[in-house]
Amino acid sequence: MNADIILLKYGEISLKGLNRPVFEKKLMSNINRALAPLGKFSVKRSQSTVYVEPLSDDIDMEETVERLSKVFGIVNICPAVKCEKTMEAIEKTTVAALNQMDLEGKTFKVEAKREDKQFPMNSPQICQHMGGVILKNTNGLTGDVHNPDSTAGKATLLLSGGIDSPVAGWMISKRGAALEAVHFHSHPYTSDRAKEKVIDLAKIISEYTGEIKLHIVPFTDIQLDIIDKCPKEYLTIIMRRLMMQIAERISIESGSQALITGESIGQVASQTMESLAVTDNAVNIPVFRPCIGMDKEEIVTISKKIDTYETSILPYEDCCTIFVPKHPKTKPSIPEIVEAEQLLTDPEGMMNKAIEEREILIIK
Ligand code: ATP
Ligand code: MG
Repeated sequence: MNADIILLKYGEISLKGLNRPVFEKKLMSNINRALAPLGKFSVKRSQSTVYVEPLSDDIDMEETVERLSKVFGIVNICPAVKCEKTMEAIEKTTVAALNQMDLEGKTFKVEAKREDKQFPMNSPQICQHMGGVILKNTNGLTGDVHNPDSTAGKATLLLSGGIDSPVAGWMISKRGAALEAVHFHSHPYTSDRAKEKVIDLAKIISEYTGEIKLHIVPFTDIQLDIIDKCPKEYLTIIMRRLMMQIAERISIESGSQALITGESIGQVASQTMESLAVTDNAVNIPVFRPCIGMDKEEIVTISKKIDTYETSILPYEDCCTIFVPKHPKTKPSIPEIVEAEQLLTDPEGMMNKAIEEREILIIK
């Protein structure tokens, strides 16, 4: 056992009201008595946890745990490893400690509790981040973190190569939701490098969320048909509605309960309240837009913090920048857009074909 400190939780005692100090004193003296034959220890108490630390290297930690397990009132014994209070040190120490253990076939779950509320990540963020770090740097473990039962459900992120959508996905996963992602690719108008960029973004997000299934959907035929058949000023909004419908179908198939986009009010023509209402109207599934009230600067700040920024600003074109109309409609109404969509050749058939021909990647 490579622990250098043992944390003890005491159960009932912490409920004993006014008599509590008496019970705690008794507990401390019982611990000291149980350990005395093994050598010198520092035994300290803080917030219902007792910290037992051997004061010399030759103390047998297995025997220490064995003896503590016989002290009444202790409900949980956690051998632990101490480290500096930085994320880097926590990562290094955790991976080193785990790699000394036989992990084959074991599952794990990360639980974090901060005593120092100034620490830059909060507890759920630490859990998600460390889950990713552990999976990446150990062998044999499978994470319970991916089990949808243990999360707030699953949502499907419409992931472009831009700054906003990775931030939106991260924000929802921060609440404990698992992510699936859909990217619309416009080969040959967009390059393989643009696709690689999206895969890289999904990789960065997966470090927080664990495995992400990324669906790359060929979208060129649909876009060309819209350009060919519908009035130019409706191009973006119709495109967005078809993207949403395809993402909705993929969500239903994969058991995902909502869509996520990086939209924010007023950022571009397709993100006015009127446009957002027309987009929402294309689907029945809830659409989460966690960036909705943020300005670009606020979104950029988060993207820098979560490390997606540098990848997002790489200059590869995305399908929306290639096919943007010069004068998009900023206040579309549902009936006029639905009418314009009647001009499409075979939207049902085209959406089904795109879904059939999608590429599915497991990103971890
Ligand atoms: P982003 O920085 O996320 O690209 P944006 O400000 O460029 O956002 P738009 O291009 O108008 O905004 O896209 C709005 C939202 O639609 C995006 O945040 C994303 O969720 C979704 N989206 C746009 N293009 C794609 C695409 N090619 N594949 C998947 N989703 C997309
Ligand atoms: Mg974009």
